[in-house]
Amino acid sequence: MSAKIISGTEIASQIREELKKEVQELSSKHGIVPGLVTILVGKNPASISYVTGKQKTAHELGFYSIQDDQPEDLSESDLLTLVEKYNKDPKIHGILVQLPLPKHINEKKIINAIDPDKDVDCFHPVNVGRLMIGGSEAIFLPCTPAGIQELIVRSGFETSGAEVVVVGRSNIVGKPIAMIMLQKGKGANSTVTVVHTGTKNLDAHCKRADILIVAAGVPDLVKPDWIKPGACVIDVGVNRVGEKISEKTGKPVPILKGDVDFERAKEIAGAITPVPGGVGPMTITMLMKNTVTSAKLHVGLKTE
Ligand code: NAD
Repeated sequence: MSAKIISGTEIASQIREELKKEVQELSSKHGIVPGLVTILVGKNPASISYVTGKQKTAHELGFYSIQDDQPEDLSESDLLTLVEKYNKDPKIHGILVQLPLPKHINEKKIINAIDPDKDVDCFHPVNVGRLMIGGSEAIFLPCTPAGIQELIVRSGFETSGAEVVVVGRSNIVGKPIAMIMLQKGKGANSTVTVVHTGTKNLDAHCKRADILIVAAGVPDLVKPDWIKPGACVIDVGVNRVGEKISEKTGKPVPILKGDVDFERAKEIAGAITPVPGGVGPMTITMLMKNTVTSAKLHVGLKTE
């Protein structure tokens, strides 16, 4: 039987509707409007497209949002001053500095300068530590891993006691999603294994997984016979494997592939995310969720 296809596009749109209502309520009952600033240094085309997407979503949800474009030759100290300005701005609850930054700027220094309580990307070491402690300490969850958890939970998969295998140990996806799934509590409480380039018998580990999360950046790494029948498979990988001409625009667009052999895996898995249309649409949505959480915390309201 063919697997259920987990649509990140649909789940992201559900969450955005919930957020829209929350934003309206925050404004009508408490007079607060969540504020997000996205800072872009330079004109990297991919970065421009990412910040445009973030700003568009923020506008749609009714946020107060600012796109702060800065020149490529902005100095590190001027960027630090800018971050400090937004740290102090009471109308701003979320600060996002779009990465990568130009080579003359130390990214670590900039991330560390963001007020951890406004670090909606959840990259600041304080927030990484809060995630490790878990529970109410973890005020923000990093966006892509948080989106992965939502996909699993909203697809109805039981996480408590489940064998979760994560392929990849990056700071952006692999390590934080492992940390999220092993926390005690709803939507987690799993037994987690992280596998990586140093792992022996990768296939044997993957075969044990009730929930298999793959974030390796290697097209078709996971073969169908690595998947336990009925498992939930979350494919985080986005790999450009060529180009095609778009029927809509007539312009060349990249051909994208995940880390899982989707066509054959869907005959074995119980549920699987497509690429594109799986994890991708969740990331911006979770950034918006963090900004709403931050706005609530800044006025002393309870969060989930
Ligand atoms: P990364 O390169 O930082 O990390 C990849 C990890 O996979 C490494 O820890 C490495 O040890 C492991 N790995 C690589 N090849 C392996 C192999 N053959 N066997 C076992 N382990 C292997 O990448 P990342 O930032 O974690 O991203 C992973 C993938 O997810 C990429 O394709 C990226 O584009 C995609 N991604 C998607 C989103 C999204 O929103 N959809 C967000 C972030 C990353």
